[in-house]
Amino acid sequence: MKKILIGTHNKGKFKEISYLLSKKFQKISPILLNIPSPAETSNSFNGNSKLKANFFSKYVDFPVISDDSGLCIKSLKNKPGIYSARLAKEKGSFSKAMKFILRKMKRKKNRSAYFICCLTFKHPKKKAISVTGKIKGNISKKILGKNGFGYDPIFIPSKYKITFGQMEKKKKINIDHRFIAFQKLKKKIRIL
Ligand code: IMP
Repeated sequence: MKKILIGTHNKGKFKEISYLLSKKFQKISPILLNIPSPAETSNSFNGNSKLKANFFSKYVDFPVISDDSGLCIKSLKNKPGIYSARLAKEKGSFSKAMKFILRKMKRKKNRSAYFICCLTFKHPKKKAISVTGKIKGNISKKILGKNGFGYDPIFIPSKYKITFGQMEKKKKINIDHRFIAFQKLKKKIRIL
């Protein structure tokens, strides 16, 4: 079976990317191979996504897929953005990070936000290929739902009335920013 390394230590992302990839692949986690995470030193999603794919690719001789993603909130100047994971770390948990965001948003009229995902595929001998997917929506007034991961319980995608956290897992995986990016990547790399 062909192998692919899913370059993330985030279990929620690993599951989503595994689900999107062809069944032909044996999906390998960097955790299994004791590969550390790179420092996310770029100031863009695209830069960090490429940096991760190139970093993980040094450890294996088969393809790597990595993403950099986050939640951008308009009235918070597109924050937490590339700092989405770091905010949760700094606050102690995603639950605390979500409460922090909801407090900051208390008096904000504009609750629009988007999730973004930059996905990069790296073949061992070829240059990395990246694409971007975005899904627009709004920040809820409360933490709602227990499904998904990360900031899912405070994001209501446009045209829906429930948060990603309240949505059936399969439904979310088939509409979100990662799914949109993945459709674009599949057009460029047929084997996926
Ligand atoms: P990074 O790409 O590893 O820097 O992490 C991105 C951060 O954004 C993580 O903390 C995720 O929990 C959060 N995030 C990215 N995609 C999603 C999603 O689909 N749902 C909820 N949170 C997400």
